[in-house]
Amino acid sequence: MNITAFSIENIPLIKPDDDIAHLLCERTQLKEHDIVVISSTIVSKSEGRIVSLIDIKPTERAKNIARQNNIEPGFVQAVLDQSTEVLIESPFLLVRTINGSICVNAGIDHSNVEGSNNIVLLPEDADKSALELKKKIFEYTGRNVSVIITDTNGRAFRNGQTGAALGCAGIRPLKDWRGTKDLFGRVLEVKHEAVIDEIAGFSNVLMGEGDGGTPIVILRGLGLYDESYGIQELFRSEKEDVIRTAILRSRSI
Ligand code: GDP
Ligand code: MN
Ligand code: MN
Repeated sequence: MNITAFSIENIPLIKPDDDIAHLLCERTQLKEHDIVVISSTIVSKSEGRIVSLIDIKPTERAKNIARQNNIEPGFVQAVLDQSTEVLIESPFLLVRTINGSICVNAGIDHSNVEGSNNIVLLPEDADKSALELKKKIFEYTGRNVSVIITDTNGRAFRNGQTGAALGCAGIRPLKDWRGTKDLFGRVLEVKHEAVIDEIAGFSNVLMGEGDGGTPIVILRGLGLYDESYGIQELFRSEKEDVIRTAILRSRSI
């Protein structure tokens, strides 16, 4: 297998209502079944998901958490507003976001956003954003591509952050190996490979975290295009999520 991966150069600073698909398509010639990996930061900027901390009125609860974690109360309030459940309050805020993923600070960033008081929220519905980008790319190029929207996340158990997928269209989140055979002819029973996270992780290497200005990466040749849509199958159900249950139990002791 021979894969090509490259980042798109000269993308401007993204503003509300910018057409990311258009900016991409005028900078590169996309091919059928390319995988377009896009940093959530620019998707959020184009969707106007920038908030000023000055405009946020923190509640008592937010002030309390902010004191414990030594961070700004307005920032904590923004995290709470973007969450459906708080798993850990301190020493950092681990929450389930309205988008469904569990992550620190609801994925809200201070970095790579203009204005010292401004923060960038995650896209409200990253699957929807991915589908819209996919449709626009088709409109501009006639090509069917996969779109994965990513963020940089920390992980449980391991040091170091990696890229993780937040939403997708035109690719299956999980590759199902069940029913196929191993090297010795044994049939595999449970094998769900989280391909969109693997792709997000690698693409994040090309994006970088700082001032690279490279929020879009193209992967060509993986052969993973599929008409399916949505990341939800990647998120564990409450019943299956043993770690989440353990965290919630330890809090109530
Ligand atoms: P996140 O991982 O989605 O939170 O995004 P990061 O803040 O880590 O940025 C990922 C990449 O996108 C880095 O190379 C940034 O320099 C770049 N980036 C972020 N915002 C913009 C923007 O508005 N325009 C351009 N051209 N690059 C950006
Ligand atoms: Mn981020
Ligand atoms: Mn990042």
